[in-house]
Amino acid sequence: MLKDLFIGLSQNQFLNSAAKKYGLKLGAQSVVAGTNIEEAIVKIKELNAHGIACTVDNLGEFVNQKEDATAAKEQILAVVEAIHEHEVDAHISLKPSQLGLDIDYSFCLENLKEIVSKAHEYGIFINFDMEDHGRLQPSFDLLDELSKSYDNIGTVIQAYFYRAIEDIEKYKNYRLRIVKGAYKEPAEVAYTAKEEIDSNYIKLIEYHLLHGKFTSIATHDHHVINHVKKFVKEHDIPNDQFEFQMLYGFRKEMQLELAKEGYNFTTYIPFGDDWYGYYMRRLAERPQNINLVAKQVFNKKTNTILGVAAGAFLLGRLSKKKK
Ligand SMILES: Cc1cc2nc3c(=O)[nH]c(=O)nc-3n(C[C@H](O)[C@H](O)[C@H](O)COP(=O)(O)OP(=O)(O)OC[C@H]3O[C@@H](n4cnc5c(N)ncnc54)[C@H](O)[C@@H]3O)c2cc1C
Repeated sequence: MLKDLFIGLSQNQFLNSAAKKYGLKLGAQSVVAGTNIEEAIVKIKELNAHGIACTVDNLGEFVNQKEDATAAKEQILAVVEAIHEHEVDAHISLKPSQLGLDIDYSFCLENLKEIVSKAHEYGIFINFDMEDHGRLQPSFDLLDELSKSYDNIGTVIQAYFYRAIEDIEKYKNYRLRIVKGAYKEPAEVAYTAKEEIDSNYIKLIEYHLLHGKFTSIATHDHHVINHVKKFVKEHDIPNDQFEFQMLYGFRKEMQLELAKEGYNFTTYIPFGDDWYGYYMRRLAERPQNINLVAKQVFNKKTNTILGVAAGAFLLGRLSKKKK
């Protein structure tokens, strides 16, 4: 129920626009590394000093105007420049929808090409984050097209999809991030039970560790992390074949500990004023984080609009259910 609520809230464009006006609120500053690249670079340097690499996501959602996609492209190009200029250990994560996938496939391809080509010049890797099911195949198509000319790209495999095993076999020669999956997907295309998702997740990780290029195991789940540690030992898989990834602000002690133990580790650094949808998906995954919201939502005037709209949204859903 709470998961559904936050996934619903993450897709609400009105709340997204309202949130943009108010800077990082509702506790978002604990999981979003600032609203501009300068702030993000400071955080990246701090993590690099602990032996942790970063993947940088210039947050952006609901892009359905070409000017917004072009602006997002310019911003991501500026991040590529900043990574190069500051010589930090970081690469880029981006969402195809941010660059116009929902508007026009060819336009999105051109935008991506510019970014991938500039990053290629500097030896910077670009990860295509994966979104919901409707965007899955077009995102793989973009990857296929750009792979004809560039080798500095990779993507994400979401374990909740039935097709994930075929995708991982097809893309085994890519650097892949393997995740459980963050969106709400119907049973026609995805496992919906936690046990099934978790078991498929392990299966995919093991497959890519044994047969794939480089595996990014992106999870906060200590059961999975402990399983991987044992599995790589048993199969003599060297440390340079894989890494662990976690999101900025989550399980900070464990992030430092894994890096200290000698594992490659990358922290996902989201930044920007378009933080709302990202943050709501994080709340959907782990409703314990609601404490962060509750502490702040009722004691600051600027948050009232978000609180009221969230309440209205919830009431709307409840009354729809009753009908
Ligand atoms: C780096 C990174 C990149 C991602 N990229 C994408 C993407 O491109 N597309 C996409 O769909 N999804 C992406 N995700 C999200 C992912 O799909 C999951 O939704 C998300 O990671 C939650 O699943 P989990 O594996 O972390 O563990 P969960 O299934 O949420 O948790 C399992 C268990 O781990 C423990 N645990 C989890 N979190 C915490 C915590 N904060 N503190 C203490 N214990 C905890 C608890 O015991 C919990 O029961 C990404 C995730 C990461 C980390």
